[in-house]
Amino acid sequence: MSDIDGRAVAKEIRAGVAAAAAKLRENGTAPTLAVVVPTDDEGTAWYVRSIKKAAEKEGVDCRIEQLDAPGRDEIVAKLQELSADPGVHGIICQTPLPEGVTLAEVGGHISPLKDIDGANATNLGRLGAGLRTWAPATAAAVLELLKHEEGLTLSGARAVVVGRSTVVGKPAALLLLNESATVTVCHSRTKDLAAVCREADVLVAAVGRAGMIGADFVKPGATVIDVGTNPTDDGGLVGDVDYAAVSGIAGRLTPVPGGVGPVTTALLLRHTVEAAELSKTHP
Ligand code: NDP
Repeated sequence: MSDIDGRAVAKEIRAGVAAAAAKLRENGTAPTLAVVVPTDDEGTAWYVRSIKKAAEKEGVDCRIEQLDAPGRDEIVAKLQELSADPGVHGIICQTPLPEGVTLAEVGGHISPLKDIDGANATNLGRLGAGLRTWAPATAAAVLELLKHEEGLTLSGARAVVVGRSTVVGKPAALLLLNESATVTVCHSRTKDLAAVCREADVLVAAVGRAGMIGADFVKPGATVIDVGTNPTDDGGLVGDVDYAAVSGIAGRLTPVPGGVGPVTTALLLRHTVEAAELSKTHP
């Protein structure tokens, strides 16, 4: 079994970001990402700081828009303000959101031309229609990792995605379908989940349950992408895949941490420079 090295893939993407950002700056544009943070959740604050650090390292400005106990209307107003601001090229809205507010709804107030994390349903629709768009960065990271694997052919492969959220499972399934994989999407009502997963040449776990994908879920030699990030009592992070059990069976497997996470951050930056480039032709 070989580990899929997310950090190496992220490094390559970030080198491309740095080059594109430098070129934009030479031409008078400072690529800028705005991160709306509608929560004081400590985990979110840590994640947002890590995005800012990565962005600034590669020449992308990062504006953190911290909102203090906002309601839906304040979040929408901020997203509309940033959408209209010519100095902002990419916008993401962090979760968790206040009770009763969904990303699918407020995401509709992010301009599709700045929606670099695929939160606007217009972009999810474009993805479904096979049109050029930005998929949510985590789902895009799944594809990016798979495409970096030598000798892995997605066309005609049996792919199983466990999880159907709008931010990960569904867009990952659409991206795989757009690559001509034969895709099955599983969720909490799926019957005999392990047997369905065992059919997969490519298995994507995006559930949020530590270690639930055990040895009996994996076909020998399969490629397994573990999207799950589950905090442990000692301050660490584990995936949805039982790494120790599955590493003896899978052909390739992403570790947690060091798999999908770094690629997700790198793609947020790549999408931001793409949006900045786009702003030149679609101001
Ligand atoms: P959600 O909670 O929105 O979705 C979880 C999905 O898993 C749902 O579709 C749910 O089914 C399904 N599910 C829950 N329990 C089971 C079960 N027992 N059997 C089968 N399916 C089940 O989570 P997200 O999609 O937002 O995130 C998934 C994981 O990915 C989390 O661990 C999250 O932390 C991680 N993540 C990682 C990122 C990264 O950059 N590495 C970024 C974003 C998320 P149903 O729809 O029926 O309820």
